[in-house]
Amino acid sequence: MIIQLHKHTTQEDIDTIHVTLNKAKYSVTPVNTQLDNYLVCIGKEEVDLRRIGGLKGVKDIHRVSDSYKLVSRKWKTENTKINLGDGVVIGGGEPAIMAGPCSVESETQIEKVVEHLIKNKISVIRGGVFKPRSSPYAFRGLGIEGLKMMHAKCKPYNIKIITEVMQVSQIKEMQEYVDVFQVGARNSQNYNLLDALGEIDTPVLIKRGISGTIEELLHSAEYIFSKGNERLMLCERGIRTFETMYRNTFDINAIQILKDRSHLPVIADPSHGIGIREYVSKLALSSLISGADGIIYEVHEKPEEAVSDAQQTLNFIESDLLIRKISALKEILHSF
Ligand code: PEP
Ligand code: MN
Repeated sequence: MIIQLHKHTTQEDIDTIHVTLNKAKYSVTPVNTQLDNYLVCIGKEEVDLRRIGGLKGVKDIHRVSDSYKLVSRKWKTENTKINLGDGVVIGGGEPAIMAGPCSVESETQIEKVVEHLIKNKISVIRGGVFKPRSSPYAFRGLGIEGLKMMHAKCKPYNIKIITEVMQVSQIKEMQEYVDVFQVGARNSQNYNLLDALGEIDTPVLIKRGISGTIEELLHSAEYIFSKGNERLMLCERGIRTFETMYRNTFDINAIQILKDRSHLPVIADPSHGIGIREYVSKLALSSLISGADGIIYEVHEKPEEAVSDAQQTLNFIESDLLIRKISALKEILHSF
């Protein structure tokens, strides 16, 4: 059960609600986010919703049978929109496009990508500076200096930055230069990191774990929301299965299930989803047809020279073409 509180509810009113629910053997967790104040109440006994709803300070009350509560669509039927400022809104109806290299490599690389994004009216750049790599000998990213450089190159054009944060200690130094924190697949269940991201205001895109279920992803998002940050997006990026013909099994089913179960925007990552350049654009389009609120993909001036994920990175010509196809698709999707 979720109780939404009025903005200026007094501590005394909250205590009365607590006592009433505790009597019915409910545990009560207060959640205060940037937008609202909630009490998440977990218990089994039947309670008289009208009686609770009538208590002073209660704005609204919702029964949520899902094990994840705040991210569930059961209490919030309208789609959540994430406003990144300067007219960039994720989940607002128009497909959100986030594109850029797997890793930030150099100033010239970022300049070229920024030029490409501007040309295609893409307002969110992706690019990792702290890279989770399967081998400790692979390129691990340019770190905070790389992020500052990317920020300096993007700021003049109001291009928003999404980049991966790998550990709690990085959040503070990164925050000033980041518009969306990405939680990577390997960290999808790093609960300390999720807790810490819940304590800040910056939006978070959380990826599904490498072998993570849809429900686990929703619970991970619940961790962040329940700590106070409700500016969240979910990301399908493929899961590990027995199949070896491609990098990951991109779970297109998950898109609609996530949309159905949660009010949060759903972003598809076809680059990691399949891991093979020539199929990325088709999967990107399929994801949008399947109801994704946006896509995030890898692009590089010379993908063959990219220091990471070269095999799945689009070149500028392929990316131009994808954007043209998305524009055409938008017309069709609007007419549905
Ligand atoms: C990435 O976005 O480059 C990345 C490492 O993604 P994932 O966590 O999905 O593997
Ligand atoms: Mn990558």
